[in-house]
Order: sequence, then C-alpha cells, then structure tokens
Amino acid sequence: MSLFQFTSRRLVSQAYCGLKPPSSKKQRICLEMARPNSNIADFREVFSKAKHIAIITGAGVSAESGVPTFRGTGGYWRKWQAQELATPEAFARNSSRVWEFYHYRRELMLSKQPNPAHIAIAECEARLSKQGRSVVVITQNIDELHRKAGTKHLLEIHGSLFKTRCTSCGNVAENYKSPICPALAGKGAPDPEIEDAKIPVENLPRCEEQGCNGLLRPMFVWFGETLNSDILTEVENELEICDLCLVVGTSSVVYPAAMFAPQVSARGVPVAEFNMQATPATNRFRFHFPGPCGTTLPPALARHKSEIIS
Ligand SMILES: [Zn+2]
Repeated sequence: MSLFQFTSRRLVSQAYCGLKPPSSKKQRICLEMARPNSNIADFREVFSKAKHIAIITGAGVSAESGVPTFRGTGGYWRKWQAQELATPEAFARNSSRVWEFYHYRRELMLSKQPNPAHIAIAECEARLSKQGRSVVVITQNIDELHRKAGTKHLLEIHGSLFKTRCTSCGNVAENYKSPICPALAGKGAPDPEIEDAKIPVENLPRCEEQGCNGLLRPMFVWFGETLNSDILTEVENELEICDLCLVVGTSSVVYPAAMFAPQVSARGVPVAEFNMQATPATNRFRFHFPGPCGTTLPPALARHKSEIIS
C-alpha cells in the first residue's frame, strides 16, 4: 500500500483526536482512533520496505540493563531524586553533592551492559546501511548503552554521562575517566545515611583546556534547561525523512516521544510502539507491541527474507 493511499484513507481531522492545535498545516491531520495492530508479520512487511528508520528510545530500554533512573517510587540517591539534583540551581548551591551523584552514576554504568534491544538496534543499523538504508537512534538516555552496543547514528537529546562542559569556556569534552577526578575516588555512595563529601570546588573536575581550569559540569540537559538546538534540528530533519518510526521503552505521553512520534504519525508515516503497556497515545499509532523490548524488538528487527545480503 502506498503512503498516499494510507494517508487518504486513514487520516481525519486532528481536532477529532482531541490534540492541541497543530503548528503547521501539514500536521493538521492525524490518524483516527483505532486499535493498533500487534501483528508482527504486518510490521515486518512495513519494515522490509522502509528506507529511513527513526528509533526513539527512552528509560525502558536502559531499565532492562539494570540502569536506575532515580525517579519514581524508591528511585532515590541518598535523600534525593534526580529532579532535585539535576538542576542548575542544585549545582550552583552544592556542586560537590551534584558531582558525587553523577560520579556514582558514571561508576555504576561501568558494570552495565547493552541488552538484546540495544544490540538488535545496532545490528539492524549495520545490516541496513549495507543495503543503502538508514537507521537513526534518537534517545533521551544518557548512559551511552546504544553506543556501547555499536549504534553509530545516535542523537542524544539529553546529553551523556560521559561528556562534560566547562562552566567557564564552554568546551565540551568526552570523559571516560574513572574516577573523573582524584577527590571523587570512593565517594558518591547512595545510602541515605551517607554524609556529603563536601569536596572543595577547586578539587572537583576542572577544565583541561590550556589556561582555563574552569569548573566542569556534566554535559547533561538539566530540569529547567533547554535542549541543544543543533541536536533538535537534526532530530527534526530525521523525522522529516523517516518512513518508519519506532518508539521503544518510552510511553508516548512522556517527553520526548510525546513531542516527536505524534508528529511523524500525523504525516501518515507508520509508528510502532514497543513498551510494557499501552498508553493513551497508543491508539494514534499503527503498531503496538507490549512487553519487555529486549524480547519484542529482536524478532521485529531481524533480517527480513527480502533483504539481500552481499
Ligand atoms: Zn574551560
């Protein structure tokens, strides 16, 4: 079925779907409310024809590798959750505490490995690139597990645990040191009774650019900060050209899938959700595959019989 046929047959006014008014005329349409398809053979048919696949991933993918988010019930580091420490104000007030928190998360990641969902995505990208087809991963995860799995085309919209930005000169650098600085060695334990290390600011991670020595901060978009506009532009460009979109391990009512996937769906492009439960947005997508994405994704992205491997 051509995209045009699908579009003309299935699209109705966006008002019908109870959505916010669209910003452009192009988006002034959306899929009618219908039960999404969970038939893997139907998905595989669409997948086999896709040339540009955009995969939006969220915390659910990391959770299957045992990566904590420090949000929600029980999600505490000492007495705090991520939204209390991941702010510019918290960093200004207590840089040592915020660095202890990030140091803990960095060190924890050294013991975590990509799971079958990360690996399926990376293998799919490598295989399809040999056929002149592209896969881009747009992630809100900061743990670099996609990179570790071998994903090459990766847009990390929230930044990375393994990058820093200088608060003086603005230099952004990759940083995989363990510990990131001597003063943080052995610090960052998450137990609620642990006291702050109160590391003097001059002993926290410092910029290594010649003559700078400014205080480094994690290269991470904190609560209250805006996303990197260059990355957002790249995301927009990828979403414009994609002819299949996967939403993996993130509910489509939660940012960023809430922002990106409905926009793709509104153009008539098939969107397939892979997450634990259906959400109120699920009915706006063509496909929904419930369950752990480490189980559902590998068979979905495996080599299709129509793929010619040279
Ligand atoms: Zn600097």
